[in-house]
Amino acid sequence: MANLESLKSALAEIKDLQYISAIIGWDQETYMPPLGAKERGEQLGTLAGLIHERITSPKFAQLLEQAEKEVQGMDPDSTEARLIKVTRREFERLIKVPARYYQELSETSAVAYSAWKEARQQDNFKKFQPFLAKIIDLRREYADYFRPYEHIYDPLLDEFEPGMKTKEVQAIFDELRPQQVELIRQIGARPQVDDSALHQYYDEQKQWDFGVEVITKFGYDWQRGRQDKTAHPFTTSFGLNDVRITTRILPDYIGSALFSTMHECGHALYELGFDPALARTPLADGASLAIHESQSRLWENLVGRSLPFWEYFYPHLQAVFPAQLGNVSLETFYKGINKVEPSLIRIEADEATYNLHIMLRLEIEIALISGELDVRDLPDLWNSKMEEYLGVVPPNNSMGVLQDVHWSHGSIGYFATYALGNLISAQWWEAINKDIPNLDNQIRKGEFQELLGWLREKIHHHGAKYEGKELVQRVTGSGISPKPYIQYIRQKYGQIYGL
Ligand code: MG
Repeated sequence: MANLESLKSALAEIKDLQYISAIIGWDQETYMPPLGAKERGEQLGTLAGLIHERITSPKFAQLLEQAEKEVQGMDPDSTEARLIKVTRREFERLIKVPARYYQELSETSAVAYSAWKEARQQDNFKKFQPFLAKIIDLRREYADYFRPYEHIYDPLLDEFEPGMKTKEVQAIFDELRPQQVELIRQIGARPQVDDSALHQYYDEQKQWDFGVEVITKFGYDWQRGRQDKTAHPFTTSFGLNDVRITTRILPDYIGSALFSTMHECGHALYELGFDPALARTPLADGASLAIHESQSRLWENLVGRSLPFWEYFYPHLQAVFPAQLGNVSLETFYKGINKVEPSLIRIEADEATYNLHIMLRLEIEIALISGELDVRDLPDLWNSKMEEYLGVVPPNNSMGVLQDVHWSHGSIGYFATYALGNLISAQWWEAINKDIPNLDNQIRKGEFQELLGWLREKIHHHGAKYEGKELVQRVTGSGISPKPYIQYIRQKYGQIYGL
């Protein structure tokens, strides 16, 4: 297996460069002084160039080809065969697109981003419109490099959710949407829950300490990770034994730090659970963005917003904040953290309405990319879909179609993975509860080892060996389905809102 070994050495160096890039990216978000930004951007650019050059070099192509010959006849599920398959996939993705394209996209995005910022500030969609049109053209061009495709959106989706087809996502969302819209409508007809207790002054250090207590119980290993503060929470890996998270603390709302800490911890536990044999290979990665999000959402929502969880942790939280929560019952607190309220802004949306924001974006992206929708007509379509799905209409474009930064960055194709992650988290949960029938009781006692052990064995261990939908099939025996999620939200919110 001399050729495979040579390829692995080349891949290990590429992975090292990617980790180094992640380290300086993490520093940029956490501790870098503001004026370091320009040079840091150049350093990140240099590393990205080096990585691209290495993977697209004739030498690498030759190594890959020789290693492919060597693994022929091996078990297609073996780590070696899968490593070659994933490497081929990523190689093709890079080699098919000319370097000039990426140059043009990054230059266009830079001006589109400034235009978007100005357009949003001034509530003037027209200012962003020509730049967005240019970005849509470029993304269509990207899809063209991957002809033949079944759907022009497929190559864009495939970047984030390998193997998943537009048609499949549409079928899943078509089943989900009417049921979720109906549930939100029913909830809206009921008396609203009171979450005012969450919106009080909460000492920042005490919030931080409580979050640390929770994720330590989850099993986050502080010898292999750390937490820092950033404006937007994220998780980043510098290797199998250095997976870091960040959080954001708001002094007047306890929900922000609490749930973002659990969410990022879920991402980190995934990366900390990869099989050590996958180290310094492309398989030391999540299976897909949807699978990654299924891990963060599982800890944040299925665990962290559940009643058994708070039966254990609420007395602790009350002891930390006696003035704020001493007289607030567990039931009131639990309902407060699960309040459902259709709102305009995606990133502030609750667990039950979030998917609708995503479905709206996916439908719009597909319509734009396939040419069915002209950019000029975008604000009207956005507003009518908001009314149809959530029953609210943005008073202006800044709070509507201009709210997300993503399109200005040229990122089109990954919104769907957020909603798929929610659905998959409920599929895992159903499977876990079959395998661990007394899970609720364990959570009620603050015990998470068996849950984490299950996730490690069935999901984390494999890293990127399997594609997302393939992993779901292997573990649950079914494809990606909205059914367990629909059942979960119906039951949970039915109880909270007395439906
Ligand atoms: Mg996430």
